[in-house]
Amino acid sequence: APPSAERVREALQATFGFSGFRGVQDQVVDRVLQGQSTLAVMPTGAGKSLTYQLPAVLLEGTCVVVSPLIALMHDQLRSARANGIHAATLTSVDADWRETLDAFRAGQLDLLYIAPERASQPAFRDLLASTRISLFAIDEAHCVSEWGHDFRPDYRLLKPLLDAFPQVPRLALTATADRHTRADILTQLGIGEDGLIVAGFDRPNIRYAIRPRDSVARQLKGVIDENPGPGIIYAPTRARVEQLAETLAKSTGRPVLPYHAGLPSEVRQKNQAAFVASEDMVMVATVAFGMGIDKPDVRFVAHAGIPKSIEGYYQETGRAGRDGDPSVAVMFWGADDFARARMRLAEVDEARQQSERQRLESLAGLIETADCRRAVLLRHFGEEPPAKCGNCDTCLEPVDVIDATTLAQKLLSA
Ligand code: ADP
Ligand code: MG
Repeated sequence: APPSAERVREALQATFGFSGFRGVQDQVVDRVLQGQSTLAVMPTGAGKSLTYQLPAVLLEGTCVVVSPLIALMHDQLRSARANGIHAATLTSVDADWRETLDAFRAGQLDLLYIAPERASQPAFRDLLASTRISLFAIDEAHCVSEWGHDFRPDYRLLKPLLDAFPQVPRLALTATADRHTRADILTQLGIGEDGLIVAGFDRPNIRYAIRPRDSVARQLKGVIDENPGPGIIYAPTRARVEQLAETLAKSTGRPVLPYHAGLPSEVRQKNQAAFVASEDMVMVATVAFGMGIDKPDVRFVAHAGIPKSIEGYYQETGRAGRDGDPSVAVMFWGADDFARARMRLAEVDEARQQSERQRLESLAGLIETADCRRAVLLRHFGEEPPAKCGNCDTCLEPVDVIDATTLAQKLLSA
């Protein structure tokens, strides 16, 4: 029988120090404890890790967690261990494989983190058969879908492993999946449609604005000057990152650092650590910056060019205001962004072209709309939001009013 509600609350408090669940966490944990496979779509910062870590502590056996990045696994490992959970990873950078395997076989691990390419190997299946498995948790589950924004072919190889343990429930987790991607995840991981739990996507403390780009360095300076707290600026290329970081450091007088995959890893780590510790730093970065960064007080996220999709936009802007305090997300777009995106589209193989094109069209819809940005965003994720949020540019400065003002100014200055 699944543990009682009392026992669950007790473990929540004793292991994690939390006095209650947030949002849909309790629904997800409930299903998992009853052995029901589930896909939980919960925004970044909603607390997805808890939905498998708590069952991992309560259930007999080991919870196997599939995660796409070594850095993410090690972050999770640190925080799990800090809570006294018996957790381990088996990655190429771990020196303690032997101890981990011994502990696993002896049934001493609550959590075992593993990369998809290793999880899908026959040797790993044999290893799992040597002890009791309580749960399969598949983190960043959108990676299994070609419809998702970050397809990883290795995720496709997980199904045979899961199917080899039909009695073990599956918990797929993702922050960003539109309707297509959700349906695909359910199919690819063999989870029934009734197992879908979607949390609200709204981030009411984020004020959205999307503006045409003219002189972007000047526009970004404006954003920085108006927002004294920490911020992230996403730029489309490494060269652009370097250039903007230099210009903005001079023009704003704020601490500004660059971050992109072309920098040596020591520099990246150093810049990231400085940003996390700072109360006023601006990080100019490519999208390489973000996954797994735990900084609750980011006050603004600005885009110097268009993101890849609405999912990407939501994920990147979602790094602002995790502490719930007022924050802003400003995108500066230009027609040339779309020209470049269309050129890239031509290079993609045909199977992906349709989904890529659709992604771009949805993004254009968000940029061009005169309706509430939040409403468009939330409808994209399948919600039925109110027509106006009152906290985005189109609500606060309705287009006809702007037009009327410009017209009035023209008339006045004539
Ligand atoms: P996600 O993976 O959904 O982005 P995380 O699992 O990393 O989110 O959790 C985000 C933060 O929320 C963490 O700091 C975590 O400790 C905190 N958190 C999770 N659940 C709760 C809860 N029930 N009460 C308070 N804080 C929570
Ligand atoms: Mg997570």
